[in-house]
Amino acid sequence: MHDLVIRNGTVVDGTGRPRFQGDVAIDAGVIAALGEVAAPGQREIDASHLLVTPGWVDVHTHYDGQVTWDPMLAPSSWHGVTTLVMGNCGVGFAPVRPGTESFLIELMEGVEDIPGTALHEGIDWRWESFPEYLDALAAMPRVLDVAAQVPHCAIRAYVLGERAHDVDLRNEEIAEMARLTQEALRAGAIGFSTSRTILHRSRHGLVPGTRSTPEELLAIGGALGAAGHGVFEMVSDLQGQEPDLSWMKEFCRQTGRVLTFALAQSPIQPHAWRETLGCIDELAAEGLRIVPQVPCRPTGMLYGLQSSLHPFIAHPTYRQELAHLPHAQRVERLRDPAVRARLLAEEPSVDNPIARVLMTNWSFIFPLGDPPDYEPRPDKSVAATAARAGRRPEEVVYEWLLERDGRQFLFAPLANYVDGNFDALREMMLHPRTVLGLSDGGAHCGLICDASMPTYLLTHWVRDRSRGARIPLEHAVRLQTGNTAAVYGLTDRGTLEPGKKADVNLIDLDALHLHVPEMVFDLPAHGRRLVQRVDGYRATIVSGAVTFEDGEPTGAQPGRLVRAH
Ligand SMILES: [Zn+2]
Repeated sequence: MHDLVIRNGTVVDGTGRPRFQGDVAIDAGVIAALGEVAAPGQREIDASHLLVTPGWVDVHTHYDGQVTWDPMLAPSSWHGVTTLVMGNCGVGFAPVRPGTESFLIELMEGVEDIPGTALHEGIDWRWESFPEYLDALAAMPRVLDVAAQVPHCAIRAYVLGERAHDVDLRNEEIAEMARLTQEALRAGAIGFSTSRTILHRSRHGLVPGTRSTPEELLAIGGALGAAGHGVFEMVSDLQGQEPDLSWMKEFCRQTGRVLTFALAQSPIQPHAWRETLGCIDELAAEGLRIVPQVPCRPTGMLYGLQSSLHPFIAHPTYRQELAHLPHAQRVERLRDPAVRARLLAEEPSVDNPIARVLMTNWSFIFPLGDPPDYEPRPDKSVAATAARAGRRPEEVVYEWLLERDGRQFLFAPLANYVDGNFDALREMMLHPRTVLGLSDGGAHCGLICDASMPTYLLTHWVRDRSRGARIPLEHAVRLQTGNTAAVYGLTDRGTLEPGKKADVNLIDLDALHLHVPEMVFDLPAHGRRLVQRVDGYRATIVSGAVTFEDGEPTGAQPGRLVRAH
């Protein structure tokens, strides 16, 4: 008698091999058998007409704070994620010197747009060192497994105090950072992360470590080499080009560890990504493991009247008379023809030229629609719609923002949408050395909601895409399971094979449906965040326990802290 038998499903096992009809037997949280299972289960689930896949492994999230108070970790858990990796992009909450917690919160708020008030109220700081942070996480049950990377900003703040932003450091300071990194890895950190982009700022300016020298990064790399495990994760404007590339190569040669960095098709250098991938191929031939991390849809913002940005947010009338009003009242005022006329006659008062360009980039602002369309045709843009109607783009946007009772979102892709389609993205996703990531689950609460990417991979790339080639089911599943798990050394999961951890999704692919994102106010201190609901996951199973059934949590909390060793 098995603990659980999933009967007669379409098994897509995460290795990339062809699907097959069969059963999955689970004992003691581990997959016991696959194929035809004769013995009965204490519980049996009929999976006829359902896909049976490994649970999704999402390697790029920012739940570092939320994980300390919220066992549900939505929206990722709603979307079939059974293991998530936090501590990306250099920000996080350990190590921390007592009395300096606010600094780390300000960094997280600045970089990842997670409300600082929510973090202040939500986090109960029961740790100072990174190992103590891991112990605090390990003491809490939750619906899914989590793994943490040690963030460079926190290490710098811990060692350097007020001088956290300094570039030139003493040798002993660098050595201390390497020692703390090694201590964190020995305690089970799954990697180290840093930020080298001018886009990541807090009220203190560029985040600590943005301009760190190769000497510092290689010294910390030495800690990964000595620990014998751990991924080096980075976001950098250089995207794998020189002068980063030199020390990246050196890092891989010296440590043998994996280095992963965010890769995107940028509007400024629309072809650079292809050169980078060519270079990565050459390095791979040398045995260097550099893994560009790519998303499965454009990195884009959701403009709306409840978001952090929309094209009228900096207009004087909006700022002075509307911004502070509750949503319903604001919508009512915006419908007033006199208010409309004033706003349409004004110019935004933005000092930041980048923000101004973004908010008036009419050819790259689209209605998100329902169901949400993340690969909109260029003729759907604000610019195209306005031109056809002989109207100003501002008039079109004004109307769109008021749709759905002022809850309509406009999709403004920033990267990976230069050509107005997903062809470049597809090439990046299918490149053998990339890994899927960048969902940023738990982050960018006022402007982005990409925790649903694993679902979108199936709905759009496998099932619905009409503007170009799709991705075969088996390959798509492997990208979000076997491949992500392998890059992070999570060898006990990511595929459905005897002996592997029983993390499983049962999916009705025909019914899989992404809802429109919505703004909710359920973070601590009534903090707001964008979430996105989904239908079609019949069940999600973590370590053999059913955590969600038809979208509803069962109350089971089998999720644990994953300690890397
Ligand atoms: Zn990130």
